Amino acid sequence: MAEAIFRGRTAAPGWAIGPLASLDEWPVNGSEIDGGAPALRTAVGHAIGDLRRIAATSSQDAAEILEFQIAFLEDEILLEEAIARIDEGLTAPEAWRATMAEQIAPFEAETDDYFRARASDLRDLEVRVARALSGGGERADALPTGCIVVADDLPPSRFLEIERAIAGIALRRGSAAGHVAMLARARSLPMAVELGRVIVTDTQAVLHEGCLKVGPDAEETAEAMRHHSIATGARERAAAMIDEPAVTRSGRRIEVKINVEDPARVPDALLRSSDGIGLLRTELTFESGDLLHDEEAQYRVYRSLLQRLESKPLTVRTLDIGGDKPFQGLDQPVERNPFLGLRGIRLMLARPAVFRLQWRALLRAATEGPLRVMLPMVTTQTEIDATRRLADACLKELFGEGQSATLPPIGIMIETPAAALTTDTLEADFFSIGSNDLTQYVMAAARDAAGPVADLLDPLHPAVTRALRMVVEAGARRGIEVSLCGEVAADPQALPTLLDLGLDKFSVASARLAAVRQAVREQP
Ligand code: PEP
Ligand code: MG
Repeated sequence: MAEAIFRGRTAAPGWAIGPLASLDEWPVNGSEIDGGAPALRTAVGHAIGDLRRIAATSSQDAAEILEFQIAFLEDEILLEEAIARIDEGLTAPEAWRATMAEQIAPFEAETDDYFRARASDLRDLEVRVARALSGGGERADALPTGCIVVADDLPPSRFLEIERAIAGIALRRGSAAGHVAMLARARSLPMAVELGRVIVTDTQAVLHEGCLKVGPDAEETAEAMRHHSIATGARERAAAMIDEPAVTRSGRRIEVKINVEDPARVPDALLRSSDGIGLLRTELTFESGDLLHDEEAQYRVYRSLLQRLESKPLTVRTLDIGGDKPFQGLDQPVERNPFLGLRGIRLMLARPAVFRLQWRALLRAATEGPLRVMLPMVTTQTEIDATRRLADACLKELFGEGQSATLPPIGIMIETPAAALTTDTLEADFFSIGSNDLTQYVMAAARDAAGPVADLLDPLHPAVTRALRMVVEAGARRGIEVSLCGEVAADPQALPTLLDLGLDKFSVASARLAAVRQAVREQP
C-alpha cells in the first residue's frame, strides 16, 4: 500500500519497525449485571487483585505506579461515595462511573501536563472495575510479537501486560508526561504520542522521532532496520560489560552510581555492579512502605542497603516532598505555586517531628557503613545550618538513650539557581546537582511541560551549563566533591558536554547503568 505518514511528538526516542497492531479500549458489556454494593466491592477487589498480580512481576518504576493505583482503589471513602449513589437508586456500574468521573475531571482540567496525564491512570481504574462488574470477559490483548502497538491512549497496567510483545508504541492521543512514556524511556522502547487519526492496516510500519510511517518503501525499511540493529547491538554489548568500570579511552575513570526508589526492587547484582547509590529518594521508599512515622523501619531500610552494598557508599536524600512529589499522610499547605513553595528541605524544617525521626534513623544507620545524607531543594545556608542543629540535637538525644550513632557527611543538592550561584560560599560536605529541578528553575519551564515550553527545558542550554560550570569550579577550588544525579546524566548525547564541564561523578536510573558505562567507554 502507499505510504502514510503520521506526525506527533516523541515520548521515547529510538527506531521501531514491525507490523501495526491495534489495542482498542476494553469493551465493557452494555447490559452490565447489577449486583448492588456487594458486587461493586467484589469488582474493586478483582481490580486490586489484577493490579497486584501485574505489580508482583514488574520493575521498581512500574510497581510504584501501580501501587498508587492500588492505594486509590483501596480508599474506603471512594467506595462509600459510590455506594451512596447506589443507595440513591443508581446501578452499581452507573454509580462507579459517576464516582470516577468526579475524580478524573479535576485531573483532566489541569493545565500542568504531569497532573493531566494522571487522568489516564484513573480512567484505567474506572474501566478495570467496570469490566469486573460486567463479568470481565476475554481480554483482547494478544498481539503479534514485535509489533508497533496503536491505541488512543495506553494505561500503565495494560502496557505492562503487553510490553514483552511490542517493539514500539504509537498513540493517537497520549502524553509524553504520562507514566507509560516514563516506562518506555527507561526500557529504550520507542514511543510517539499525539499522532492523531492513525488507521491500523495490515502492513509494516516504522516509528522514529514522533513520526509513524505506514507502508515504508524498501529503502526506508532497510534504514530503520540498520538503526534498530545498531541500537540493539549496543545495548547487548553494554549489558555484557555492566560490571566493568567506566573509563574513557584516554583513561579517565568516571563514577556511575544508581538512583533508587524502592530498595526491594533493586537486584543485589545491580547494587554490586554499581559504584554505590548516589540518590535514595526516601519520599518514594517511605511512601510505598508507609514508613513515615516508623524510625525502626527506616533504620532497617538503610542498614539493609548498606549491607547489600558491601562497603559501597549509600547517599540518602532526606524527604523531598511537595511540587511534583505529593505524599499522602503528611500535612502540606495548599499553595498557588507549589513548585515555588514549601517543598523539599523547606517543608522538612517546617515539620520537625517528621524530620527528627528520619534523622534519628540516619544517625543510627551511619554507624553501619559509608552512609551520606543529602538535603533536597536547598536555597540558603540557613537551611543547612538549621538541619545541622537538628541533626546534632538528635545525636545527643540518641547518645543520652545509650544508642550508638554517628554524624555522616551532609551534602546538598544543587537544584535552585540560588544554590548554584552561591556554591563558592555554601558550607556542605558535598554537592550533588539535581539537573531536573535546576533546569526547570533556571529556564522557568516546568520539568514536565509539553509543547513549546518543553522545548525550553534543555539541560544543556548555555544558561544551565554555565550554572553547572560554576558549581564544578567552586567545588574544585574548595575541595568539595561535585556529582550529578538528574536525568541528563543518563543521556549518552549529553555525556561529552558533561565530561567537558569537568563532571566525573554521576548517578543514574538503575536501568541505565549499563548504557551509561558503555557510553563513557566510547568517549575519547
Ligand atoms: C533532580 O531534580 O534532578 C533530582 C535528581 O531530583 P528529583 O528528580 O527527585 O527531583
Ligand atoms: Mg529534584
